Parts: sequence; C-alpha cells; structure tokens
Amino acid sequence: MHFDFLLIGQGLAGSLLAHFLKKAGASVVIIDDAHCGGASAEAAGLINPITGRRLAKSWRIDELIPFAEKTYAELEAQFRQPFFQRRPIIRALFSAKEDNDWAARARNPEYSRYLMEEPVEGPILDFIQPAYGFGQIRESGQVEVAALLSAFAAWGFGEGWLRPEPFDYSKLILENGKARYEGLQAERVVFCEGYGLHRNPFFNYLPMEGNKGEVLLIRIPGFPRDWIFKHKVFIAPYTGDRFWVGASYLREFEDALPSARERERLENVLQRALKAPFVVEDHRAAIRPTVPDRRPLLGIHPEHPQLAVFNGLGTKGASLAPFWGAHLAEVLLNGVPPDPEVDIQRFRNG
Ligand SMILES: Cc1cc2nc3c(=O)[nH]c(=O)nc-3n(C[C@H](O)[C@H](O)[C@H](O)COP(=O)(O)OP(=O)(O)OC[C@H]3O[C@@H](n4cnc5c(N)ncnc54)[C@H](O)[C@@H]3O)c2cc1C
Repeated sequence: MHFDFLLIGQGLAGSLLAHFLKKAGASVVIIDDAHCGGASAEAAGLINPITGRRLAKSWRIDELIPFAEKTYAELEAQFRQPFFQRRPIIRALFSAKEDNDWAARARNPEYSRYLMEEPVEGPILDFIQPAYGFGQIRESGQVEVAALLSAFAAWGFGEGWLRPEPFDYSKLILENGKARYEGLQAERVVFCEGYGLHRNPFFNYLPMEGNKGEVLLIRIPGFPRDWIFKHKVFIAPYTGDRFWVGASYLREFEDALPSARERERLENVLQRALKAPFVVEDHRAAIRPTVPDRRPLLGIHPEHPQLAVFNGLGTKGASLAPFWGAHLAEVLLNGVPPDPEVDIQRFRNG
C-alpha cells in the first residue's frame, strides 16, 4: 500500500491539508484516533477579525478571511452541505473608554471594513442585558467544524483512506528517504496531532504550550441565530437549536476534562449577559494547540526530510487552517519555501 502522504490527525489541520493535497492529485491516507480530546471537535468555529481589549486586527486576517471563505465554499460544493455562515458579532462595551476606543477604531481606514459604529438594533436586544454600548463586527463568521469533520471522515471511511486508530510512533520506520508504517509506505508523513504533538518523538522539541478551553452547550428559547454575541464570553449558534458558550482560556491544567469551577464561572457570566432564561445541556473541554509566539508550526523536519508538521493553530484554527494548509501543500508538492513567520526552522532541535 503506497501513498504519497500519510497524515496523523484529522482535526482542522489534517483535514484542510488533506483537502489541498488531494485536490492537487496526491494520494493520502490519514490515521486518527477518532478525535480523542481533539480541539476541533469542541470549537465554535468562530472567525473574528478583531480581538482582545485593544481591538487589534488578527494577524494577517485581510488574507486569511477571503481565503477561508473560498475554501469553505469549495468544501460546501464538494459535500453539498453548508459549513460556513457569515455572522456579525455584537460586542458588549462596558465603559466610556471602550465605547470611545471602538468609535476611533471604526474611523480608522485599516479597521473600518471590520468595525461598525451604527447602533445595534433588532430582537437580540430583548434577550441580552443592557451594557454601556454595543459594537458590531462584520466580515466575521462561523464554521460548523463538527459537521465539516464528520463529512470529511465519512468520505475517508467510504473510500478507505481514513483509519480510526491511534498512531504508534515506535512502529514508524524511516529508510531510503521514505517512511513505512505497518503495511503502509509513504513518501512523507505529516503530523497534525494538535496538542498530541507533545507525545511525538520527532517534533516534541517544538514549543507547544497548550491552552485548555471549556464550553457550555445551552438552549435559550427564541434567541436569534443570525448573530454571534460577545459579552465576557461568546454566545454562538451551534448545531440543532443549541448555543455554544465559551470559552475559557486556561494555561495551567492537569487534564482535558470539564471542571465544576469553570462551569460555575461560565454560568455566572451567562447570568450577567442574558435577560432570557437558559438551560445548560452539556459541558465540554479540550486543549488548544498553542505556541508561545502565537504562530502556526509548519514545515519539514531538520534531519528527516520525509517528516513534516502542521500544528500550532492555537485559538484560531477556523481562519488559519485553510490558508496555511494550502501553503503547506505547496511546500510539500512544489518545494515552495515555507513562509518564515510559520516555518518550524525558527525553533532549534536540541
Ligand atoms: C473549547 C475550544 C473552543 C475553540 N473555539 C474556536 C473558535 O471558535 N474558532 C477557532 O478558529 N478556533 C477555536 N478553537 C481552536 C481550534 O479548535 C484549534 O485551533 C484547531 O481545532 C486545532 O486543530 P488541529 O487539527 O491542529 O488539532 P485537533 O483538532 O486537536 O486535531 C488533532 C487530531 O489528531 C488526533 N491525534 C492526536 N494524536 C494522535 C495519535 N497519536 N494517533 C492518532 N490520532 C492522533 C486527535 O485525536 C485529533 O483528532 C477552539 C478550541 C477549543 C478547545
């Protein structure tokens, strides 16, 4: 069984990379241990161009959003299923300073395509607590990550190129510039294991920090589904008639399990954000694959050219995975040099 590429991990990184490799005609096989603790499975899939208290533009967002929209549209056409929705974000502003900062940003030509000064109107105001003010972010959106990964997995199972099993690193044999794993031979192995990277003996020298996120899945009868609401947490439409609430950002953690403490914190924030009653139906957690310099990890192993990595999507997999998945496909297929901002060469092995 000979393949061009063996990918380990079918989260957003592995799926988007596989999409571009297969689109270019390469043969791909993926091994994934069925999303054990994968971050993508718990993501709301938010694409938010303006983040943080400083209202900063997300890194390279002017390139990332159009590319992501184009890629998700391609996948929608392939699977005949919607995955991406443009949805404005309504952000609560808590003081005169925040309100002024918003207005100043909205008038800055670098930001004006993303921030609106107009007042927020419509039925959502009946459901949320009053704040000092509200700002609107546009060109934001949401990817139905779970639906996309399920469609992708069904395709892989159907054609036999997705194997739902753990990858055993000790069984990987590197010889003659190629890789062998059990009955498979591949020109290259690309590791896309998210936070699982720390178990990878070839790439665990890379600085993966990890950041635990906890989320609630709730019902809010009648809450509008055409908006994403940002108070101290995000409230975003989720599958069925549920809403996704989150997330927490915990740098210190002992496990990837939901905790009573975070559930209480999220519920308290919700009480302060919503006028409407809500019911908590589920509470979940996963570890984001974050890197100290907040840039993806992408490139070829310094000593084993048949090994590559695609990781470090951190808190922004939905916007980063399409653009950087396409870039890594170019690196692997056409020998294009990796963009220095994301190339793993910025970290030394040993
Ligand atoms: C609570 C939460 C909310 C988030 N919300 C958003 C959001 O709204 N917008 C956004 O853009 N990003 C969000 N993120 C971040 C986003 O989820 C990540 O950036 C992205 O999912 C990372 O994708 P990945 O494929 O690198 O890793 P993962 O999704 O973790 O995928 C790795 C896959 O590899 C598999 N794997 C690992 N090791 C092995 C092995 N040895 N053998 C076989 N398989 C293996 C895992 O099971 C998993 O399926 C959120 C993350 C969390 C935790």
